[in-house]
Amino acid sequence: MGRISNNIQRLTAALPAGVRLVAVSKFHPLEDVREAYDAGQRLFGESRADELAEKAAAMPPDTVWHFIGHLQSNKVRRVVGCASVIESVDSEKLLRQISNEAVRAGRRIGVFLQAHVAAETTKTGFDPGELIAAGRLAATLPAIRVMGVMGMATNTTDAARIEADFDAIAAIGAQLRVFVPEATEVSMGMSGDWPMAVERGATLVRIGTDIFGPRIFGPR
Ligand SMILES: *Cc1c(COP(=O)(O)O)cnc(C)c1O
Repeated sequence: MGRISNNIQRLTAALPAGVRLVAVSKFHPLEDVREAYDAGQRLFGESRADELAEKAAAMPPDTVWHFIGHLQSNKVRRVVGCASVIESVDSEKLLRQISNEAVRAGRRIGVFLQAHVAAETTKTGFDPGELIAAGRLAATLPAIRVMGVMGMATNTTDAARIEADFDAIAAIGAQLRVFVPEATEVSMGMSGDWPMAVERGATLVRIGTDIFGPRIFGPR
């Protein structure tokens, strides 16, 4: 059995029931996505519209794609055409665009509202109050299903800070459910920190490096 299949099986076995694995395949070649698919993985995450479209066209139709990167206005149509879920919604403007494009395409798109809790100001997402307002708006828009919240912890070795960030993301999710009861999902945890995220209430973990190895940046 190959390295990628091994990793998929190991991670799937380690995750408790009720926590789903998003295999983050960004920057990895199609043959790696195929190996994961052949190992039984169906849910993949991509962060660039063009790369997503290319891979989605080449993979079997039961492959499920989550978009997890920063989404620009001019790429919304492309992403709505191949992803069933957009996890990285960070503005009300983007919500309206997704809704419009989903209506146009005759599709229903799941959305996660991205919470900004990490210390880095470079990371995008809503502040808590803004996120609740955006979730309430999203619940009124056609062709959108509000699934929950997504977030990233601070990039640090300080476990207490990471835990506090995950708790903050989960708490925002709980607040959102007061107004939008169907928003039950919490997407948090990556290769370095997913066990802690699961402990703090993640229902979805997004793992790239621990499955596919390090990403080689630059032209493919
Ligand atoms: C790349 C990425 C991941 C996966 O990161 P790894 O450390 O490789 O597991 C998860 N979430 C988001 C939003 C990403 O962009």
